[in-house]
Amino acid sequence: MDQDKKGLNTVCTHTGQLEDKTYKGAVSPLYMGTSYAFEDVDVKRYPRYFNTPNQIGLAKKIAALEKAEAALIFGSGMAAISTSLLAFLRAGDHIVLQKTLYGGTYNLVTEEFEKFGISYSFTEGLKAAHFEEKIQDNTKVIYIETPSNPLLTITDLKIVSNICKKHGIVSMIDNTFASPVNQNPLDFGIDITIHSATKYMGGHSDICAGAVASSEKNMQRIFHLAKNLGGSLSDYTVWLLERSIKTMGIRVKAQNENALRMAQYLLDHKDIETVYYPGLPSHPDHEIAKSQMKGYGGMLSFELKPELSASRFQKSLRLIKPSMSLAGVESTTLTPALTSHSLLSAEERKRQGIADGLIRFSVGIEETEDLIQDIEQALKKVKEEREQSV
Ligand SMILES: *Cc1c(COP(=O)(O)O)cnc(C)c1O
Repeated sequence: MDQDKKGLNTVCTHTGQLEDKTYKGAVSPLYMGTSYAFEDVDVKRYPRYFNTPNQIGLAKKIAALEKAEAALIFGSGMAAISTSLLAFLRAGDHIVLQKTLYGGTYNLVTEEFEKFGISYSFTEGLKAAHFEEKIQDNTKVIYIETPSNPLLTITDLKIVSNICKKHGIVSMIDNTFASPVNQNPLDFGIDITIHSATKYMGGHSDICAGAVASSEKNMQRIFHLAKNLGGSLSDYTVWLLERSIKTMGIRVKAQNENALRMAQYLLDHKDIETVYYPGLPSHPDHEIAKSQMKGYGGMLSFELKPELSASRFQKSLRLIKPSMSLAGVESTTLTPALTSHSLLSAEERKRQGIADGLIRFSVGIEETEDLIQDIEQALKKVKEEREQSV
């Protein structure tokens, strides 16, 4: 049966599953071995060679989800990102990256690339001309992230893939925020799609993992470096991740619905200054999002009115907990100005559009009425405290 051609939830549930021939169990047997007899001279199984039974099974599932020929599973999202980038860049090469990037990726590029002799440019914006103007003769990779963190900007996949094809450049995307449920970048001509599987693929805030999917040819090149760098994922966690992905389709669709509902509620709220959610028609990139996403995701950001303290608001929430991470079944918040973007100067934050009152909201699968009630009581508390202090 060619499960790759099956629908989303069937692929999530079945593709890549290992058969339990001995006991006919419903789940993949877990093979924890690090030592396997040679099957023939070409097959030497070893966890760091990314070819244990569980690793291979899960890679098939993720490749099918991303409409790719092949995939590899890594020990973290950053292991997947760093290995993919370095597989296509060598000393003397140049990379163009979009201006808003996940902090870990930004740090990797700005702190490590110089010592490898790799130069880089960040775009000023996300339009075609912003990418074109940064391309040099030695540009080998264009790297994007859409929707982006934390303002949920949208980069046009078709525009970027066309630019890359025209110039013979490899295109890579961090597809973490969308998940394969909402966006399949390879369908739009992007070459390589990367995930922090710690987020929507894991979905329960208990797994750290990464994944890359692309053509067989590109994955061979990434594999060659991957086995030397050694960023593979333990088979036990591979097994847990396979289990998690079985429910990814229904989880993420529930999160899409909840996030849209919460975005609409916040948009109408008198204590909220702005809402950033690509599913809202008022979002400046809504039309691009509509053309390339199947759902708008579970992430949104909003700004409180300037007189209300974001940190007090966050502390007053009871159900919704503060968290550095995101994408779990439970709703969480993060204040970028105080955490992920705290090392930037106030001026630089302002330039990037990160207001002090900005709150990133990872919407979970709870009942939205309960989330709304939590936000209402927190806002009430913050306003009462404010009145007492003036
Ligand atoms: C978390 C995250 C990463 C890094 O993944 P790790 O699993 O923490 O290494 C990369 N990109 C995005 C968008 C993320 O949210």
